[in-house]
Amino acid sequence: MKITIESLSKTKNPFLAQVERETGEDLSRCYQCGNCSGSCPVSDEMEIPVSQIIRFVTLGQEKTVLESNSMWVCVSCFQCQYNCPKCLDPSKLMEGLRRLSLRKGHAPIEMAQVTGEFIERSPQQAIVAGFRKLMS
Ligand code: SF4
Ligand code: SF4
Repeated sequence: MKITIESLSKTKNPFLAQVERETGEDLSRCYQCGNCSGSCPVSDEMEIPVSQIIRFVTLGQEKTVLESNSMWVCVSCFQCQYNCPKCLDPSKLMEGLRRLSLRKGHAPIEMAQVTGEFIERSPQQAIVAGFRKLMS
């Protein structure tokens, strides 16, 4: 196997390697211009804006990333993808982080918290999508 500086840094940063495997995104291409965060309609509600999430992932800060609310606040609107000059897809990163987080047992909503009244009022598609996105 050819050993490169990139492969060595991923050996030392298993979280980055795991996220890139999960999302198919090469985060080393991000040059932190901030366009994704600037165009994100829910950035103000995120504890960590999407461009900083990318930075924390590349630094291997798994706990900081997975304990933030950012991936759960993301509404998958694709503005970040549309505005990235490096053709990265931060929305795919957020989706991948949700999957990783659920797999590691961090679910932001417990089934018992969802009331019958809410289920009766909500469209079926929203309930199924919400269960996929927010519950383990
Ligand atoms: S817009 Fe693209 S290059 Fe700029 S910070 Fe976001 S992901 Fe990185
Ligand atoms: S897809 Fe998510 S992170 Fe990207 S702009 Fe929309 S809400 Fe923000």
